[in-house]
Amino acid sequence: MKKAKRTIAAFIAAVSAAGTLHIAGVSAAPLLIKGDINRDSIVNVSDMVIMKNYLLGKYGLNENQSIAADINDDGELDSLDLSALQEIIIGSMNRLPSGTWIGDCNGAKRYFSFGDGAGTLIDPSSGSVQDFTIDSDEDMAVFTMKKTGSALSAFITWTDDESFVLKWDSGDTETFRHFCDNSIKSSELLKGHWVTSLGRTFDIDGLSGKLTDKSGNISRFEYAPNGGDVMFHFGSTENNTPGKIVHTDSMHFVITWDGGTKETFTLQKIEVRSGITYVNGILIANKTYPLPSDYNPGKILPEAQSAFNAMQADAKKAGYNLSIVSGFRSYSYQSQLYNNYVARDGKAAADTYSARPGHSEHQTGLGMDINNASSSFNNTAEAKWIAANCYKYGFIIRYPQGKQNITGYMYESWHVRYLGKQLAKEVYDSGLTLEEFLCIDSKYKS
Ligand SMILES: [Zn+2]
Repeated sequence: MKKAKRTIAAFIAAVSAAGTLHIAGVSAAPLLIKGDINRDSIVNVSDMVIMKNYLLGKYGLNENQSIAADINDDGELDSLDLSALQEIIIGSMNRLPSGTWIGDCNGAKRYFSFGDGAGTLIDPSSGSVQDFTIDSDEDMAVFTMKKTGSALSAFITWTDDESFVLKWDSGDTETFRHFCDNSIKSSELLKGHWVTSLGRTFDIDGLSGKLTDKSGNISRFEYAPNGGDVMFHFGSTENNTPGKIVHTDSMHFVITWDGGTKETFTLQKIEVRSGITYVNGILIANKTYPLPSDYNPGKILPEAQSAFNAMQADAKKAGYNLSIVSGFRSYSYQSQLYNNYVARDGKAAADTYSARPGHSEHQTGLGMDINNASSSFNNTAEAKWIAANCYKYGFIIRYPQGKQNITGYMYESWHVRYLGKQLAKEVYDSGLTLEEFLCIDSKYKS
């Protein structure tokens, strides 16, 4: 910003100086030199400044100046040529784009979305999304990045209504083509790896991405969100596929395509850090994703414990006593427990109600059994209160009724898992198990 301001200030100073020269110069009527518009017997930068101001429509030329400005010496005042030039230059003055444009700088593609004095810069290569405010200063556009406060300026030249060029401070030239008429907010971007109910995956960065279909075929696309509407361009910009988009929660949206087909998109970012699997940042321990044997928080994690305490206090007010009968269980303790069940009931039966070591949610420090870890707890008043209220404290019933083939475990009305309030509410509202919510499996490999 500072640099741009200084440049503008210097420019204004030069203009004022030139204005003075022009008044002093004409009265003397010196020798005619073509291009010496201010008639001070030298062609220099002040002539250019006068010309620029004429072209900007700031003031007219008098007769002597016009003769000096007849550079091609055809005996005609060049006002006709100059006014055509003037029109082009004025056409780029203080004219900022609106809608969304694709910038191309040496083959690198960026999206710029412009709205009322503000906008969003989306860089698919770095994945960065930055909001900015924009001002115009004659033929200069000044971008101020909201987060960092840093300013970038560029000279803007409109080639036609469908394209313009930015010549940046850095010397880079970026050419722009029109993408869509609406300004796209950063919150409308569908960034990430999404798996869909039609067996497809979408990897989206910025306003473009890669689609992998059921058979593994890959195609590229661009898309343009506009409130509840979304337009996908598969393969090429001519191939338009419109749909209606509804964002259901922080990890899901649904598109109803033009033909009526509904497709549910589930965000799925699976990361393994120190042997621990996180899906969209959520620590997972189930039959597919084990914890390492040395993962040992030693107790229920403090956040989950204080959430339980709050739930316990409110349950008490409602007339129910809740207590934790089994909280954190180490890998080695789970190992003993599981082996005892296998010895008693056999492996197949034990696998339906007890986790193999490393696969127990109790090892996470985020899972706990309340009051009575047995099916006799189902349908008790406490179980009903927990099912109806635990999400308010950040918990979910981890193994709901009728979902054994998805979670891998029979119904456990007593086992809750801490997720934090926002997420627990989203899972509760969805009516899905955590596996369904994240589109993941819970199956032993053998
Ligand atoms: Zn449990």
